[in-house]
Amino acid sequence: MKEMLRIFKALSDETRLKIVESLLDGEKCVCEIVPLTKRSQPTVSIQLAKLENLGIVKSRREGRSVYYRLADPKVRKILSKADFSKWWGIDRKEMEWYPIIDEEKCTGCGMCVAICGRGVFEFDARKNKSEVRNPYNCMVGCDNCGVYCPAEAISFPQKNRREFVQSLLKKYGIVAKARENVMLSMEGGDER
Ligand code: SF4
Ligand code: SF4
Repeated sequence: MKEMLRIFKALSDETRLKIVESLLDGEKCVCEIVPLTKRSQPTVSIQLAKLENLGIVKSRREGRSVYYRLADPKVRKILSKADFSKWWGIDRKEMEWYPIIDEEKCTGCGMCVAICGRGVFEFDARKNKSEVRNPYNCMVGCDNCGVYCPAEAISFPQKNRREFVQSLLKKYGIVAKARENVMLSMEGGDER
């Protein structure tokens, strides 16, 4: 259990998750990881140090460059099985929460594709626009892409999003489940 908590803790941060994903196809130096994660060099360096402390990556120095690679094979296994079909154990399709793109407004900037860590969007180069390909991969309660979209082209089915999420929390007893998870992670020790 502690082992899994360590890995999930490492992957619970969006920057760390992007770093790990960038290393799935092999070792890279920091200068290659920075553009792939679209984060600043200091941010990437801080998160790489955390990942190394958690035993998720290993580094080696070559001249003036530092190279990183995945150190834990379990991480690769977990990522390859990432499954967003459930939300707190409930079939995700029971919840009408996903982004909708107004094609007329979309300028094709690609921001939604870049910031969503769940593969909800894909870029259609022919149309020069983004498309929603995996709507139910969207994390219930997240509306980041709507906030980031410079063209205000993204909306969600629910008008009152807060009320909708709160009603789900009540309906499925999520607050009690969250508390249970927090207590379990405390037992595992917080290394952040
Ligand atoms: S962020 Fe908005 S404007 Fe940019 S590609 Fe996505 S939907 Fe289109
Ligand atoms: S709301 Fe969040 S999880 Fe859903 S598509 Fe947008 S960025 Fe991705």
